[in-house]
Amino acid sequence: MTMDYYLTDEQKMIQELARKIAEEKIRPIAAELDEKEEFPWEIMKVLAKSDLFGIFVEEKYGGTGGGVLELCLATEELSRACGGIAICYAASALGTYPIILFGKDEQKERYLPSLARGEKLTAFALTEAGAGSDAAAIQMTAKKDGDSYVLNGTKQWITNGGEAEIYTVIAMTNKAKGARGASAFIVEKGTKGFDFGKKEKKMGIRASATKELVLTDCRVPKATLLGKEGMGFVVALKTFDQSRPGVAAQAVGIAQGALDLATEYARERVQFGKSISSFQGIQFMLADMATQIEAARALVYSAARMIDAGANRFSKESAMAKLFASDVCMKVTTDCVQIFGGYGYMKDYPIEKFMRDAKITQIYEGTNQIQRNIIASGLIKEAASKKQV
Ligand SMILES: Cc1cc2nc3c(=O)[nH]c(=O)nc-3n(C[C@H](O)[C@H](O)[C@H](O)COP(=O)(O)OP(=O)(O)OC[C@H]3O[C@@H](n4cnc5c(N)ncnc54)[C@H](O)[C@@H]3O)c2cc1C
Repeated sequence: MTMDYYLTDEQKMIQELARKIAEEKIRPIAAELDEKEEFPWEIMKVLAKSDLFGIFVEEKYGGTGGGVLELCLATEELSRACGGIAICYAASALGTYPIILFGKDEQKERYLPSLARGEKLTAFALTEAGAGSDAAAIQMTAKKDGDSYVLNGTKQWITNGGEAEIYTVIAMTNKAKGARGASAFIVEKGTKGFDFGKKEKKMGIRASATKELVLTDCRVPKATLLGKEGMGFVVALKTFDQSRPGVAAQAVGIAQGALDLATEYARERVQFGKSISSFQGIQFMLADMATQIEAARALVYSAARMIDAGANRFSKESAMAKLFASDVCMKVTTDCVQIFGGYGYMKDYPIEKFMRDAKITQIYEGTNQIQRNIIASGLIKEAASKKQV
């Protein structure tokens, strides 16, 4: 039982539905897909049938009209069973948000209904070999040519790469303008000159696909431009503000899933003639973990509610949720392995996977060092604006 967050009946339904799918469909196959590094298409179809891809999409585009909180609730529940499968779902939201936030009506009408139905997956492509935290260093170019743009360059580590049909790609339209010289494009799989490169072998979230995108003289119509030319990094930053609570929810789910297993194990494991759950050293670990997870969950839901309520600025709060929840997730999953002792280190038990899956939540959608930069910059700006008043 978690704290009562006074969710609406609809939000509780989403939570229960995702929990049921996680327990009945995901948990039984999580270890196998992790081992085989196999994309969970069957699960994506189940999520689509259950209308979970549309929970953050407006009703007029075929969604159910929820927001970031609904997405967080579903992502958390799926992550309780498998962080890797959950991210295939959540990464599609990351790829959908640029269209929701910056799409023109025609673009929304063209893409959102099939995305809300889960018929197609999306991906978001910013990172390159030489441009991770320093996104402004991207080298991919988009050269205007009449009524189209011609894209050249390589993106790396793109979640859902190869599996998704629709990609938001950030490329430089005017290198001389630096951070104001990038633009965002919607690129469809199958476009001439759009290929996939290396598939990564990863420590965790191994059911998810992480691939290179190779664009060679890839011509896309001007109508694929998201927002205006020069707004590429605005699209990226605003998208991350919206999607980071989702990564935080993934972290809360992974941590809760690990704690559920460790609590059960502590009750069953006998040493010195007693259940190890009777030792205060174990009890204190369980108590600290449960408290940290609840604090993370409260922060994530609060940030999500702030966004859904229409707040003007929420970069700082969104970053706080991602930072805190992912650090809690790493600590909790490490301590859960400790509670399993040597068995925790063995692949015969499910707990080591939670620790492997946890690590990525501190890295992607901006490392936790970058989240601290965002939080500090928000604080300093707020202090400066108070002084001016
Ligand atoms: C599994 C996986 C999936 C991913 N999915 C996607 C995706 O779908 N789309 C996408 O575009 N990208 C994706 N990424 C990329 C991800 O967002 C980047 O890896 C991340 O932003 C960090 O960039 P980097 O790995 O190049 O690290 P670097 O930027 O090289 O950082 C290296 C270290 O230096 C630190 N550092 C860097 N700059 C600073 C600073 N100013 N102050 C303090 N410390 C700093 C970092 O925190 C880190 O510890 C994915 C990555 C992985 C591993």
